[in-house]
Amino acid sequence: MGKIQDFVIENKIKPKECVYHTWRDAKNKKLEPTGKIRVLVPPQSDTAMVEYTCPECKHEAYTEQPWKRPFGVKCEKCGFKVTVPKMKAEAKREAKADNAKSD
Ligand SMILES: [Zn+2]
Repeated sequence: MGKIQDFVIENKIKPKECVYHTWRDAKNKKLEPTGKIRVLVPPQSDTAMVEYTCPECKHEAYTEQPWKRPFGVKCEKCGFKVTVPKMKAEAKREAKADNAKSD
């Protein structure tokens, strides 16, 4: 892990300017949050940069693929599909946090 972080720093990318940026727990087959997935779609880009720790086999990898929703990557080791769930409640919370900052 760290490749996306390096990219953000090197290119001076501001989180707000990104098409999409998230970092959250990835769930295994038993719905336990044993993995991680980070997704960054840089400004004006339609390619998603993805870093993940597979919740099933703990394999860590970096990959790039076309950005689309719903978004998911297949673990290159075990084939488990690591998905980014679309959560309405979370989107609302993020919007609130943004508003609070600009006040
Ligand atoms: Zn795996």
